[in-house]
Amino acid sequence: MAYFNELMEASLDALDSEIKSLINKELDRQRTHIELIASENFVPRAIMESMGSTLTNKYAEGYPHKKYYGGCEFVETIEEIAIERAKKLFGADHANVQPHSGTTANQAAYFTVMKPGDTLLAMKLDQGGHLSHGHPLNFTSMIYKIASYGVDRETETIDYGEVESLAREHRPKVIVAGASAYPRRIDFARFRAIADEVGAFLMTDMAHIAGLVAGGAHESPVPHSHFVTSTTQKSLRGPRGAFVLCRAEFAKDLDRTVFPGIQGGPLLPAIAGKATCFKLAAEPAFREYAASVVKNASALARGLSELGFRLVSGGTDNHMMLLDLRSRNITGKVAEKVLEEAGITSNKNAIPFDPEKPMVTSGLRLGSAAVTTRGMKEREMGIIAKAIDEVLSSPEDKGVIARVRGRMADLGAAFPLYESM
Ligand SMILES: *Cc1c(COP(=O)(O)O)cnc(C)c1O
Repeated sequence: MAYFNELMEASLDALDSEIKSLINKELDRQRTHIELIASENFVPRAIMESMGSTLTNKYAEGYPHKKYYGGCEFVETIEEIAIERAKKLFGADHANVQPHSGTTANQAAYFTVMKPGDTLLAMKLDQGGHLSHGHPLNFTSMIYKIASYGVDRETETIDYGEVESLAREHRPKVIVAGASAYPRRIDFARFRAIADEVGAFLMTDMAHIAGLVAGGAHESPVPHSHFVTSTTQKSLRGPRGAFVLCRAEFAKDLDRTVFPGIQGGPLLPAIAGKATCFKLAAEPAFREYAASVVKNASALARGLSELGFRLVSGGTDNHMMLLDLRSRNITGKVAEKVLEEAGITSNKNAIPFDPEKPMVTSGLRLGSAAVTTRGMKEREMGIIAKAIDEVLSSPEDKGVIARVRGRMADLGAAFPLYESM
């Protein structure tokens, strides 16, 4: 009895101080570093409250009112609310909020309409596509034939002519629009016209730009796509998780594909977090956030251009940009490492037609969503651009790195994060 109470009521610090202290260190890292990873963000505390709640104790296989377990009355209401809010936010006929991750959401959409041996046409991974769009080691390559389109060598924007000719040649069952490293607007109507011409389904993977779409800062793929998949943790600023939107005609098949097709019980803490994320994303303040994300990305891109950096495609229309570091004689791998030492977190990323290997790269991907959530504006983007330039101009100068690190910690301190934790 005593042991039971001690076990159930003890804090993490009391039961496992090793893990607690690492979580504290991670919180400190998030506070003191400038977060420029384009796929990251900071979720409101309210969403973390759901993520760390008793919902983790519940099994709820199936869908609202068709659950395979008892005691689901509250959790199925949470799921229904999440579904309704997702449909309303994005103007979709149907939403499935159960996928555990973006990769799983894509798997669900593919499995709903594709058979093994069918062809998938998606963006080349080394030009912006995601692993789940056909990486050789990903399930997509084991099950489907993969055809991939890229960007134009001159403009470094999607070559729609190539998409069209590849579609005619390969007759894909599904065409994927959407990317992990593409700084420009995507023309969904153009993609749909190509899909219609060859009788393919259009799936838009809006994982990166979902927050911009919800906040009216990027055109919505929903009216143009048969399926739209997304994560919730990137620009949408929700919990780690995903969802799929589709036309009414695919609703039943999609739901069956998610469960029991590829998942068992849903992660209810994440579904509750998604519900709150969709509620917040429908508010006027979120529109301001989305507009500010785009403005900040433009300001950072402008600042870096003025300091002599070359940006892939010449700039950005969304929340992210790709720096071509070749003229600076530094690789993406080294740049990521020295910036990290200087308190700026980013990731190395291949640029189109990159001569370096994927683990080295000539590029760096930067995004503005997380710093925007912290409240930073164009002025701070100028400060960050200068700091990046200083570090990458003298990557071996420990004095410069230490000075920038101090400045970045001061900048972080001026935009407090999770003060009550
Ligand atoms: C991040 C991302 C995903 C995958 O998300 P996970 O949750 O990491 O599986 C899928 N598609 C695109 C385009 C992404 O950028």
